[in-house]
Amino acid sequence: MNQVYIKTKIFSGEDSLNRLEKFEDKIIWLIADGFLVENNSVGQISDKISSSNKVIICGDVVPDPPIEVVAKGVAMIGQIQPDIVIAFGGGSAIDTAKGVIYFAKIAGLIKKVKFIAIPTTSGTGSEVTSATVITDKKMEVKHPIIDDDLLPDEVILCPYLTVSVPPVVTANTGMDVLTHALEAYVATDANAYSDALAEKAIEFVFTYLKRCYRNGDDIEARSKMQEASNLAGFAFNIAGLGMNHAIAHQLGGIFHIPHGLANALILNKVIEANSIDCRVRLRYAILARKLNIASIDEDDVTAVNHLCEAIKKCQIEMEMPLTLSQCKVAKEDLLVKMDDLYRNAINDRCAKTANRVFTRGEIESILLAML
Ligand code: NAD
Repeated sequence: MNQVYIKTKIFSGEDSLNRLEKFEDKIIWLIADGFLVENNSVGQISDKISSSNKVIICGDVVPDPPIEVVAKGVAMIGQIQPDIVIAFGGGSAIDTAKGVIYFAKIAGLIKKVKFIAIPTTSGTGSEVTSATVITDKKMEVKHPIIDDDLLPDEVILCPYLTVSVPPVVTANTGMDVLTHALEAYVATDANAYSDALAEKAIEFVFTYLKRCYRNGDDIEARSKMQEASNLAGFAFNIAGLGMNHAIAHQLGGIFHIPHGLANALILNKVIEANSIDCRVRLRYAILARKLNIASIDEDDVTAVNHLCEAIKKCQIEMEMPLTLSQCKVAKEDLLVKMDDLYRNAINDRCAKTANRVFTRGEIESILLAML
């Protein structure tokens, strides 16, 4: 049975922040990325909100939201009792707010709250997904939690908010978009809706990501990457993800490799391993032909190779690390962690929609080949 559920209302475009002018006499809790509070980017949001509202800003968000930050937020939201929660930042800010609202509702600390997500990176698509990823620092595990109750009510996509993203973060988050769309395309729950969303997202990434990397002020490219991130988020929310994310979550949890970079590092190896199955290989080949990366008269193996070459070209042009050693992961440390890494990867929520769950040997050889 196919299931497509799209709840979130999207306001997009260069003037989309004007949506915030409509709120009156509300208690608004703004959960923001710490860096964006420090450099006063958060003013772009608070300045749009009328003075009849009471705005409380929390800048506790850090990358890869840890359990402790979410727990602190749960206690705070119970005291603040906001009418509206706004998450402002990248996936980490949106996931923090999602976790806080979710657990506060379960604990009976709040009832109804309007949840608005305003992404400042073009990567996770978290603003339209039923997922939040919370990190257990002690156990070195990232836990994806999936529930439709996590979905924001509204999203504001304003491309100007992403122009300050530095090139390294633009590259990492952009490759996260590509990984979402490619994984959704071959996931077990893929259907015509998720395919359409994923195909458009991939087309936009190949056309606009390098432009964003080279010139952060290119507002057309920034806008298209923001849409790509959103489309890919919708796609994987319908289709699910796979082993790429299941393994990348462990690389993030154990070695603190930024999420998009962890995905990008193993992307081609995962495509290669997935392509052992001729049905999955055909899916990648169809995609490569649609994107004009491969021609119609080339066989599936050649078409998939072209797709992998295009991905590698992107990584090289954006000067991304191509090996785990470049990310300061030593072979000894990787081997010591391999058992935990394998166990947590196959138990990761994303493995549930993988077209094939990899064996321990496969995961080990993918990672050793990346050293
Ligand atoms: P992030 O939110 O961690 O931000 C990365 C860095 O960029 C931070 O240092 C932040 O301060 C900075 N930053 C953010 N916006 C900026 C801006 N406009 N200008 C300058 N700097 C800016 O990165 P992310 O990749 O967006 O999110 C990663 C998190 O999202 C991970 O924890 C990952 O597991 C999670 N994730 C969630 C989902 C989901 O569906 N919930 C999907 C994929 C990933």
